[in-house]
Amino acid sequence: MLNIDLHCHSTVSDGLLTPTQLVEHAAARGVEVLALTDHDDIGGLEEARKAADKNGVLFIDGVEISVSWRGQTVHIVGLGIDPADPQLVEGLSTIRQGRTMRARNIAAQLDKFGIHGSFEGARRNAGNGLIGRMHFARFLVEQGYAKDVRTVFKKYLVKGKPGYAPHQWVSLSEAVNWIRSSGGRAVIAHPGRYKLGKDALEELLLEFQTLGGEAIEVVTGSHTFEQSLLFANHSRRLGLLASRGSDFHGPGESYFDLGGMPPLPANCAPVWHDWPGLM
Ligand code: AMP
Ligand code: MN
Ligand code: MN
Ligand code: MN
Repeated sequence: MLNIDLHCHSTVSDGLLTPTQLVEHAAARGVEVLALTDHDDIGGLEEARKAADKNGVLFIDGVEISVSWRGQTVHIVGLGIDPADPQLVEGLSTIRQGRTMRARNIAAQLDKFGIHGSFEGARRNAGNGLIGRMHFARFLVEQGYAKDVRTVFKKYLVKGKPGYAPHQWVSLSEAVNWIRSSGGRAVIAHPGRYKLGKDALEELLLEFQTLGGEAIEVVTGSHTFEQSLLFANHSRRLGLLASRGSDFHGPGESYFDLGGMPPLPANCAPVWHDWPGLM
């Protein structure tokens, strides 16, 4: 079986490894095809591609775009995008500006609960990369508020808990259009993670497909085994392609290591079915 991992993060967004370290880790784990999909940023692709060439890994340019759909955050992965596409570059840059504003709002919310200095702490954890909730989560762990980031997200940073700041991301159609017009394929990331009823989920899938979206993640660190079977069925039923990605953020922080997920269930049409040199 081809070991392909089409979803992971570097220090450019909220991962713990630099793009080079990530690719070296992937190669050491036997990953043959890798897409780097940082949140709202493509700044790591060039470095990752160089490292992939050196390590004999086939590299796919990717991104994970933050979208608001009916008041919920939905993530759209783009695969095979053109990192030089001006519309994509500009759109992602606008999202990142919004992230900095949201980070100020998150810090202000935490201040109200007596947790101070979180903006600076998150900024420090983010290094030169964009600021996300993961950087706040790591700050809260450092400060002893929780034992690990998983626990942080149960007690902080989510709706109804300290440190939550609502935010408007881009629309589903913008994200799909940017990906498609830069030559990429749009994929709904971890569909099983969204708190949508059956009807709303179906509407999301159909709207995405109408907009030109082509695939859903079937095997991901966010899905149980049962969910991967469920979404394999959805992909077959709707004629959507199926993707496989770990959503790896770093050693000890993710459910699956790079490439360490189960294969796609049988009868799924892989999102890479027509990529040259694979299959
Ligand atoms: P953001 O895009 O800044 O809102 O942050 C979203 C990121 O936070 C996700 O990509 C994960 O890295 C992390 N995250 C969200 N929820 C959880 C959770 N329950 N456990 C661990 N990490 C989470
Ligand atoms: Mn993340
Ligand atoms: Mn995601
Ligand atoms: Mn991700």
